[in-house]
Order: sequence, then structure tokens, then C-alpha cells
Amino acid sequence: MLLSEYDLKQILLIEKKIFWFEINKLDLPEIICDLEGLINVLQYVSDFWKEEFRSEINSLEIINDSIEDGSISKWKGNYQEDIHNGIKKLKKMIISMLEEYLGRSDSNILEKAIIGDTCWLICPKCNDAWESDSLTAMVVCPKCCRALHNPRATQYK
Ligand SMILES: [Zn+2]
Repeated sequence: MLLSEYDLKQILLIEKKIFWFEINKLDLPEIICDLEGLINVLQYVSDFWKEEFRSEINSLEIINDSIEDGSISKWKGNYQEDIHNGIKKLKKMIISMLEEYLGRSDSNILEKAIIGDTCWLICPKCNDAWESDSLTAMVVCPKCCRALHNPRATQYK
């Protein structure tokens, strides 16, 4: 899977939004609205993936509509749990997309992170240093959100 620099930023933002929802910094209508907007701007991500992600958002939207119009009292099952499971699925989709992307060397990227010391990496673009023990092909600078080649990447199996 290929992601543009722009895609990667949006995907990291989606991950952040999900985290904010989990710690109650975003409510359900907010996260639905934010994720719908972010999904629409992704450039290289397949339509199939987007459809799957969107259908999970739609399920959350149905719950949210029921909460807003008061019909949630008639919800079959535990709607809180359904929200939790829906968010969990979205999170899983985002994490596995990131893992897949970072697992392969991206030839569109020229820069390589710099080894600071045994557990630190430095971004050549913004000079930020962060703790990393990752052995994947690519790493992401947490400050500027750019993908970089990982100097510690284990060679291809
Ligand atoms: Zn950086």
C-alpha cells in the first residue's frame, strides 16, 4: 500500500481523533463528523477500504441519530457497547493500515532517520528526536508526521 505524505498526516490525525474520543475529549457527533471529513480527503487509499471504514462510521451515525431523537431507549442490545465496538473496529483498520505501510520501504521517500543513541531517532527534516525501538522499514516522525526510512530496519527476510 502506498500513501502520500498528505495521506499519512490525515491517517495519523484519524488515529489521534480516535484517541481523543477514547479519553472523552471528543463526543460521538464530533468524531463522526471529523472522521467522515478526513476519509473523504485521502488520496491513495483504495475505495474498498474507504467504503469499509465509512460503513463503520454509518453504524455509529445510526446510534447517534437514535440518541438525538430519543429512540435509543428502544435500541436492541447495549448501544454503549456497540459504540465501543464500532470505534474499536475503526481503530484496528487504521492501525493495520499504518503497520502495512511502515512495514515496506517506500521508494518515494528519500530521507532516513538519524540514529541518536541506542533508543533515540532524529528527524532530518525538523530535527525532532524521539524514542524508538522500531525495526520496521519506515518510521514516522511524531512532530512533523513525515515518513522516514528506519536506519534500524531489519533486512528483508
Ligand atoms: Zn520531523
